[in-house]
Amino acid sequence: MLLKRLRDTMARGGTPEETLGEVVRLVANEMVAEVCSVYLLRAGEVLELFATQGLNPSAVHRTRLRVGEGLVGDIAAHARPLALDDAQAHPQFAYRPETGEEIYHSLAGVPIVRAGRVHGVLVVQNRTRRQYDEEEIETLQTIAMVLAEIVAAQHIVSPNEVQQVDGLGLLPLRIDGVQLTPGIAVGRAVLHEPRIVIQKVVAEDIAAEQIRFDEALSAVRDDVDRMLEAHDMQSGEQREILETFRMFADDRGWIERVREAIASGLTAEAGVQRAFDDVRARLGQSTDPYIRERLSDLQDLTNRLQLRLTGRGSLDPTTLPDDMIVIARDMGPAELLDYDRGRLRGVVLEEGSALSHVAIVARALDIPVVGRAPDVLARVEPGDPMIIDGDHAQVMVRPAEDIVQTINAAIEARAERLRKYAALRELPSATRDQARIGLHINAGLLIDMQHLDETGADGVGLYRTEIPFMVRSEFPDVDAQAWLYSRVLDVADGKPVTFRTLDVGGDKVLPYVGAFGDENPAMGWRAIRIGLDRPAMLRRQLRALIQAANGRPLSVMFPMIAEVSELLGARKLLELELERAHRRGLAVPERLRVGVMFEVPALAWQLDSLLPHVDFISVGTNDLLQFLYAADRGNTRLAGRYDTLSPALLRLLHFVVEKTRPAGVDLSVCGEMAGRPVEALALLALGVRTLSMAPGSIGPVKAMVRSLDLKEASDFVTSVLAQPDHSLRETLRLFAADHAIEI
Ligand code: PEP
Ligand code: MG
Repeated sequence: MLLKRLRDTMARGGTPEETLGEVVRLVANEMVAEVCSVYLLRAGEVLELFATQGLNPSAVHRTRLRVGEGLVGDIAAHARPLALDDAQAHPQFAYRPETGEEIYHSLAGVPIVRAGRVHGVLVVQNRTRRQYDEEEIETLQTIAMVLAEIVAAQHIVSPNEVQQVDGLGLLPLRIDGVQLTPGIAVGRAVLHEPRIVIQKVVAEDIAAEQIRFDEALSAVRDDVDRMLEAHDMQSGEQREILETFRMFADDRGWIERVREAIASGLTAEAGVQRAFDDVRARLGQSTDPYIRERLSDLQDLTNRLQLRLTGRGSLDPTTLPDDMIVIARDMGPAELLDYDRGRLRGVVLEEGSALSHVAIVARALDIPVVGRAPDVLARVEPGDPMIIDGDHAQVMVRPAEDIVQTINAAIEARAERLRKYAALRELPSATRDQARIGLHINAGLLIDMQHLDETGADGVGLYRTEIPFMVRSEFPDVDAQAWLYSRVLDVADGKPVTFRTLDVGGDKVLPYVGAFGDENPAMGWRAIRIGLDRPAMLRRQLRALIQAANGRPLSVMFPMIAEVSELLGARKLLELELERAHRRGLAVPERLRVGVMFEVPALAWQLDSLLPHVDFISVGTNDLLQFLYAADRGNTRLAGRYDTLSPALLRLLHFVVEKTRPAGVDLSVCGEMAGRPVEALALLALGVRTLSMAPGSIGPVKAMVRSLDLKEASDFVTSVLAQPDHSLRETLRLFAADHAIEI
C-alpha cells in the first residue's frame, strides 16, 4: 500500500532531493499519472518547483509562481484542492514553457498544509482529459500530509525563510475589523492557532490507533463536561452553545469518518485531521453562517483531540503573559474557555461574526472581540504589545509608547465615568423641573439581564428574542423557549420586560429555516410577515411566553407592523393561545400589555385606527430612519448621510407623540438613538417620556436627564423643528452647552 511505501522511503534517509524525487515517482505510479510535481513555498510568497516526475527536469528550482498565480498558486492561495479535466482552458492557467507541460490536459492538485499553514502544492497531470474522482483527491490529500512532514523533518525549506515573507514584521500596524464585542484593552499577543505538528502520519498498528482515538475522544468529552460545570456556564445561551458543541463529539457520522481514515493506515491524529479536511473541503467555501459556525466547532474539536493525541499542549499556560490578547483565525467557544479568564484581555479573529458562538460567549464574559481582521495571524508575532479597541473595531499592533499612554488614559477615564454613572444608580431619573423619565434597557441574551440591577434601570424596554433561535441547530420547542423567558422574568424580579416576538428573516437567518434569498432583506420576508405566514411558529412563541409568565404580568410587542390588519392578525393568534391556556387550566397573565414596534413609516398614517388596539408603541428608529430615507442602515457608504436629528425624522416623531398622547397609549423609543444623550434630549423635548437603550447608555442618558429643564428644552426644540437643515445636531449641542446640559 502506498502509505507503507512512503514510510519506507522516509525511513531510508537520503538527501531531501532524493526523498522528494522518490515520492513523486511513487505517486505518479500509484495515480497512473504522467506527471507528479511538488511545489514548495519560499520567501516572498513564491511557490518553487522542487521535484517532478514527468515535467522537464531542468525546470526544477527554475519554475516559480507567486501565491495566487496560475493553478498551483490558486490552490495555495485558497488552501483547497482543484481537479480539472481541461486545465489549460481555465482562466487561471499560467503557462510555463520551460516545463514542457503543454501536452498535459488534466490536472489535480492539493495544498500541502502543516499546522494550519500552506507550505506547498502537490500536483498530478495527465495527457488525456480525464476526471479525477473524489477518492483520488482524498489519496492526494493523505500524501500531502506525509509530504508536509517530510518537508518539515528534513528542513527542506527553512522555517525562518517562510516566516520572513514580508520581513516588515516590526513596524507598528493598525488593523481594522468589525466589532464583535465592545470594550478596550491593552495586552500582549498570544497566537492561538494551536500549531499542532503531526509527527507520525502512518500507523504501525491500526487497532492500537483506533483505541488511542477512542480514549482521546472520551477525554475530550470529559473536558467539555467540566467546562459545563463552571459556575458562569449554568444558564443562558453560552451553555446551550457548549452543549451543542458537546453533541458534536457524539456525532456518529463524523466518528465513522475518523475510524475509516485510521483503518486506511493513518495514525489517530492524522485520521482526525483527514476527517476534518474532508468536511472543510466540502463545506469550507460556504458563506452560510450556520455552516461556518459548525465548521469552527469541528475545528475546535479536532484541535482538542490532536492536542491529546500528540501529548503536547500547544501553549504552555505558565509561559503565557498576564495580559493576553488572543489571536486566532477562528475559534470555537470551548477554546475560548480554555484561557484563564483572569488573564484574558481580548480576542482578535480573522473571521467571525457578531453572532458567532465565540462572540456570544466572550460577550457573556465581558471580553472585547474584534473580528474579520485581515491576515492578523500572519502580521502579529507572539508577545507583540497590542491594543484592542472593540468600540472602534480596531487593533493596534506594536503601538508607539504615546499611543499606549493615550489609550491607558482613555481606559482610566472610562473607568472614572463608569464610577460616576454607578453613583447615579440610586438617584431618580427626573429632570430639573421634576418630569419623571422612564429609562429601560435593551437585552437579547440572558446574560444581559444582569445589567438591569447594575444600572438601576426601570425595566427591559426591548427584549430581542431572536438570538437564542439563531445559535441553535433546530427550532427551540415551547418548553425550551418558556424556560428561557421565565428565567428572564425571574431575573427582572418584578420590573417590566417587553418581549418582542421573533424578528428574523432577511439577513438574520435561522439555520433550520434556511436563507430566503430575498434581494432586499430588510424589506423582505421578515419579522411579523413570517409570523403571520407561518402562524404555528408565532403561536409557539406566544404559548411559551404565556407559559413563562405563569400568571405574572406579560408585555408582548410585534415587530415591523406596517398595517393595522397585521396587528389584528397577531393579536388573534395571541388570543387563541390565551384561550388555549385557559381551557387547559393554566395560569394566564395577570395583566397583559400588547404593543407594536413603529418602524415602518406607513403606520404614521394609520394611528387613528391602530391606537384603539394597542397599549403601547415603541419606536424602532434604526429601521424607521432607514425606511424614511430609503437608506440601508448597514451600508457603510451611507453611514452618517442622513441624521437621526434631521427635522424630517423629528417632525415625524413629534406627530406620533401628539397623536398618541390623547389616546392614553404609552410611547417609548428603543432604537439606538435613545441611548445617545443629544438625541435623547431631542426625544424628551418632543414629548417622549420613556427610552430604552443599551445598558451602557443608561448612565450618560441619566446624567443628561438630571441636568435638563424639560420645559425650556421643549420650547426650544419645537421652535426649531421647521428649519430646513440637514440636521439639528449642532443647534442642539449649542443649546446644551448654553444650558449646562450634560451631553
Ligand atoms: C429598531 O429598528 O430601531 C430596533 C430597535 O429594532 P432592531 O434594531 O432589532 O431592528
Ligand atoms: Mg428594527
